[in-house]
Amino acid sequence: MSHDVIVVGLGGMGGAAAAELAARGLRVLGLDRFQPPHELGSSHGRSRIIRQAYMEDPAYVPLLRRAYERWHELEAETGRVLLRRTGGLMLGAAGSTAVTGSRASAVAHGLEHDLLDADQIRRRFPPFRIADDTIGLYEHVAGALDPELCVRTFWERAGAAGADLRAGERVTGWLPEGDGVLVRTATGEHRAGTLVLAPGPWAGALLGVPGRHLEPTREVMHWFRPAAGLGSFRAPGFPVFIWETAPEAVFYGFPALEGDDGGVKVAIHHGGRRVDPDAMARDVQAADVEAMRAFLRPHLPGLDGAHLHGAVCLYTNSPDQHFLLGLHPECARVALVAGLSGHGFKFASVVGEILADLVTGGGTALPIERFDPGRFDRAP
Ligand SMILES: Cc1cc2nc3c(=O)[nH]c(=O)nc-3n(C[C@H](O)[C@H](O)[C@H](O)COP(=O)(O)OP(=O)(O)OC[C@H]3O[C@@H](n4cnc5c(N)ncnc54)[C@H](O)[C@@H]3O)c2cc1C
Repeated sequence: MSHDVIVVGLGGMGGAAAAELAARGLRVLGLDRFQPPHELGSSHGRSRIIRQAYMEDPAYVPLLRRAYERWHELEAETGRVLLRRTGGLMLGAAGSTAVTGSRASAVAHGLEHDLLDADQIRRRFPPFRIADDTIGLYEHVAGALDPELCVRTFWERAGAAGADLRAGERVTGWLPEGDGVLVRTATGEHRAGTLVLAPGPWAGALLGVPGRHLEPTREVMHWFRPAAGLGSFRAPGFPVFIWETAPEAVFYGFPALEGDDGGVKVAIHHGGRRVDPDAMARDVQAADVEAMRAFLRPHLPGLDGAHLHGAVCLYTNSPDQHFLLGLHPECARVALVAGLSGHGFKFASVVGEILADLVTGGGTALPIERFDPGRFDRAP
C-alpha cells in the first residue's frame, strides 16, 4: 500500500486531520470532490465563533481548551492570525440555554466570565436593544476564527509535510479489504491501512449506518451595513454574540472584521430547512433577508440598514445536535467526524488531533465518550 491513511473531505475537519497525520510522519492521501476552501460545504463565510463557556454541554470544555492551544500553536508555526479575540456575549432570559447553559459550563470548569444584568449590558454594549429581563454572560476568551484561512493553512501544512492531496476527486464508496481499506472514487480506487471520513454535509451518503441519522440544513449568513457607520459595531464594545430572543429563536453575529467589506455579519442559528446539498437553492432569496431583518429590527435596529450580501452554508444536524466523533461502529480501521450541527468549526484543530489519535492508536486521551457515533443505533 502506498499510503498509510486516506482522508476523505479536506474542509475544516479533514484538513486538520490530514495536516496532523502528515506531521506525525504518516503517508497521507487526502481526497476532496472540490478545491478547499470553497463555498459549497460548511467552512466558509469569513468568521466562526469560538468560545469556552459552552452552552451546549460542559463535556465540550476540555476539547475547547485543547482547541485553543492547538489554534495558538498553528498561529505560532505559521505566523498567521487565525483567531481574533473579541470577547463574547451570550444573551437571553434567565431560563435561556444561552445563559444558563453557558453558566453551567463556566461553573463546572472554573472558566472566567461575567454575569451581567440588563443595565450592565446596556452600558457596556450599547447597540443591543434588550428587555429588562434579559441577562448576559460575557467571556473574554471568545472570538472569531477565519475559516477560509484555517482551511487553507491546514491544506498547506499537510502538503508541506508530504501529504498527497487531490482536489476534484469524488469518493463514491469504501469498504474494509484485507488488513486495510479500499476507497472507490469517480475516477479510480485507492488502498490504505486506515481511513478518516470527514465529508461534512455529504456524510449521509458516505458514512453507512451512522450517516442515516444526519440531516443537512440550508443556513444563510448576511452582511449588513449599519446606517450610522461601523463605529459602534467594533470589538470590544460589540463582541461576538449569541442571543436567544425566545425559546428556539437564536441569532448571532460578529463585530466588524477585516474581510467583511464594510459590513457586519449576522445569521439565524438553526433557521434553515432540510436540503439535499447537491440539489438546493444556493442563491440568497428575499425571504432569507426578511427573516434576518425580523430579528434585527427589534433587537439590533442600528444594523437594519443596507443588505450588502448573503451566502448559503450547510449545517449537518444529528438527532441530539451533538457531534459524531470516534471510530466507525462497524469498522475500527475507520475514524469519522460528522453531525457537527452548526457548531463544529472552533473544534477543527483538536478534532484533527483526535482523528489522528484514533487511526494511529485506536483511541485518544481526549474525552470523546459523549460523541460516540454508534449512540443512535443502540437500544435505549
Ligand atoms: C452558517 C454557518 C455558521 C456557522 N457558525 C459556526 C460558528 O460560529 N462556530 C463554529 O464553531 N461552527 C460554526 N459552524 C459550523 C462549522 O462551520 C462546521 O461544523 C464545520 O465547518 C464543518 O466542517 P467539515 O470539515 O465537517 O465540513 P466541510 O468544511 O464542508 O468539509 C467537508 C469536505 O468534504 C468534501 N467531500 C464531501 N463529500 C465528498 C466525497 N464524496 N468525496 C470527496 N470529498 C467530499 C467536501 O467537498 C468538503 O470540502 C457554522 C456553519 C455554518 C454553515
